[in-house]
Amino acid sequence: MTRTWILAVAFVAIGALLAGDLASAQGPGRGWGRGRAGMQMGGRRGMGQRRGAGLSRIPAASDVPLTDSEIDALVGMREEEKLARDVYLTLGKKWNAPVFTNISEAESRHMAALAQLLNRYKLVDPVTDTAVGAFTNPKFTVLYDSLVHGGSKSLIDAYKVGALIEELDIADLREAKSGTTREDFLFVYDNLERGSRNHLRAFSAQLRAEGETYEAEHLAQADFDAIAAGDMERGGAQAGRGQRMGRGQGRGRGQGRGRGGW
Ligand code: MN
Ligand code: MN
Repeated sequence: MTRTWILAVAFVAIGALLAGDLASAQGPGRGWGRGRAGMQMGGRRGMGQRRGAGLSRIPAASDVPLTDSEIDALVGMREEEKLARDVYLTLGKKWNAPVFTNISEAESRHMAALAQLLNRYKLVDPVTDTAVGAFTNPKFTVLYDSLVHGGSKSLIDAYKVGALIEELDIADLREAKSGTTREDFLFVYDNLERGSRNHLRAFSAQLRAEGETYEAEHLAQADFDAIAAGDMERGGAQAGRGQRMGRGQGRGRGQGRGRGGW
């Protein structure tokens, strides 16, 4: 596979899929996303279709009281999604690399989905300051600083930071899922984990294109490699009305935009 081909595929995928791994608040939607790779890519074009499940499809709340571990996991994930968003915003600016900025938009939607669950159960939101780098749990402040520091050394290091954040998210989402049977929590966590798998694929594709390998820290290497080798996954399978659009543009870089409520 040529490097150009890998990049073109990655950009199209990012434009069409990553800009919105969770669809609009109006409900599950079907739509299209177009990715265009520019001159350096040899003018490849690609079309992508996506459908996804929106916030309105989160299963009903349960009357069973939340356990402490369910609360802790939810509160932790809310800030962990902010960690991802903030690191990607910062590294995207630092390297002028749209892959980070695009994915940060998905992380914003992930944050919003978790906020929805916090509100639903009248839990205190740990995100009291939306500023980049501001966290309530000092663990995330430390992580933010070290990830930004590491990802500022080179663009390849930045891609590795992206892969690290995504494998951490996947590991923590799996742990959160193992600690609950609530349908609404599982629905949101499943959606977030699918987003993370796609993001992991995007960063891993960038690293591969640079001839780099990645050593997993939070997942088993075989698990990481299997996810990285998998196809990009689309949103939830329920059919419904609603529309979403994704645009991808590349001129040596990819750019995507999506409209969506998540
Ligand atoms: Mn996420
Ligand atoms: Mn992610």
